[in-house]
Amino acid sequence: MSTIEQNIKSIRANIPDGVELVCVSKYFPVDAISEAYNAGERLFGESRVQELATKSAQLPKDIKWHFIGHLQTNKVKHVVPLVDMIQSVDSLHLLDAIERAAADIDKVQKCLIEIHIAQEETKTGFSPHDFATLMTSTDWSKYPHVQICGLMGMASNTDDTERVRRDFQLLKTLADLSALRTISMGMSGDYRIAIEQGSTMVRIGSAIFQ
Ligand SMILES: *Cc1c(COP(=O)(O)O)cnc(C)c1O
Repeated sequence: MSTIEQNIKSIRANIPDGVELVCVSKYFPVDAISEAYNAGERLFGESRVQELATKSAQLPKDIKWHFIGHLQTNKVKHVVPLVDMIQSVDSLHLLDAIERAAADIDKVQKCLIEIHIAQEETKTGFSPHDFATLMTSTDWSKYPHVQICGLMGMASNTDDTERVRRDFQLLKTLADLSALRTISMGMSGDYRIAIEQGSTMVRIGSAIFQ
């Protein structure tokens, strides 16, 4: 068994049925993705437009790609045709661009709203307050080609597991309050805590590919 295959096996053993695994393949080569594919994985996450385009052209068509990085509005039209989901919607402006690009190709684009749940200022996403405003004051009838499936968030980058747990609890609460089903939270270092706190989708990169 290859290392990637072994890593997947041990991670899968910790993920209950009903929690989806996104294999985050950003910065890792096509060969590594092929190994994960041959181990049965079909859902992969990328965070750069050019890298996504290059890789998706070379790999099997039954792979589902999720875009998980910050997305510039001028690049949206290149991403929408390639992805199953955009997890990193962090502005209304971006949502407008997704609506236009999806309408152009007659697609309904599944999206997650990214929420800034971490302590660090550097992370992107809506603040809980701005998210509440987004949900209540947006005219959703203007977005027939966008389907908001849930929320995505990244916990604080810290060894303080209580802090991380609280970050995830916040995301879970916001999703529940808005009746949104998909809760994308948990990465290589904290996915067990995320699952404990109600994650329905974990995004794991280095623990699989490194
Ligand atoms: C890179 C990245 C991940 C995966 O992080 P690992 O620590 O390598 O598992 C998950 N989510 C987002 C948004 C990322 O950018």
